[in-house]
Amino acid sequence: ASLPYIVGNWKMNGTRAMLNEARAIDRAAARLPRVQVAVAPPATLIYRTREAVELIGVGGQDCHVKESGAFTGDISAPMLKDAGADFTIVGHSERRTLHGETDEVVRTKAETAFSAGLATIVCVGEIEAERDAGNAEAVVGAQVEGSVPRLEGAVDKLTVAYEPVWAIGTGRVPSVEDVAAMHKAIRAKLVTIYGDAGAQVRILYGGSVKADNAAELLSIPEVGGALVGGASLTAESFLAIVGAA
Ligand code: 13P
Repeated sequence: ASLPYIVGNWKMNGTRAMLNEARAIDRAAARLPRVQVAVAPPATLIYRTREAVELIGVGGQDCHVKESGAFTGDISAPMLKDAGADFTIVGHSERRTLHGETDEVVRTKAETAFSAGLATIVCVGEIEAERDAGNAEAVVGAQVEGSVPRLEGAVDKLTVAYEPVWAIGTGRVPSVEDVAAMHKAIRAKLVTIYGDAGAQVRILYGGSVKADNAAELLSIPEVGGALVGGASLTAESFLAIVGAA
């Protein structure tokens, strides 16, 4: 099985001072060879983060569907690659909700990123009303179906992150049983889509992962790591999660 993968999503946080956190994370990761660690800083810090660290992965938080063009303010996958990114997150719920991204848009972004030489982390997750209505697995299954890249070879550079929207930034997490059931359902969907290669895709859990719940969440079958928001903003809190993996 592959190493547990712990990814910090800094969201719209961080100026140059945050590079000290990245350096501290990198130094600690060098002593933890059994965990794969990465951070996704804001785009303005990708190049500097890449220069500041040696071991950990560095990624984007989003990319445009197109490789270049008249899209003021947007950033393309080849630009992320050129800045030193190894991967990009696509389809985060904050993008889906605040920027109206559909599954089709997310899939196109994932394919553009793969074509640019980036690994991808495709995010999926239900809202609270969907879980309350008993539809969480159906909703997430449809998101996976619609959002993952279908280009030849893309599955080998794919990670899926299950992030229940109601758990993001709220301090609430689903039960162990609900996480286990959802990850199992996502695994089955990936195998349906990709065949045997779908069995190798890492499936991360995200949403209020903290030092005190990380060990339990990371011990759940089919949870291959964590996508961490708030607790990734200091080396101390992020490394407590990395250390639990
Ligand atoms: P929090 O860890 O702050 O809940 O954020 C999770 C997330 O959205 C990571 O992408």
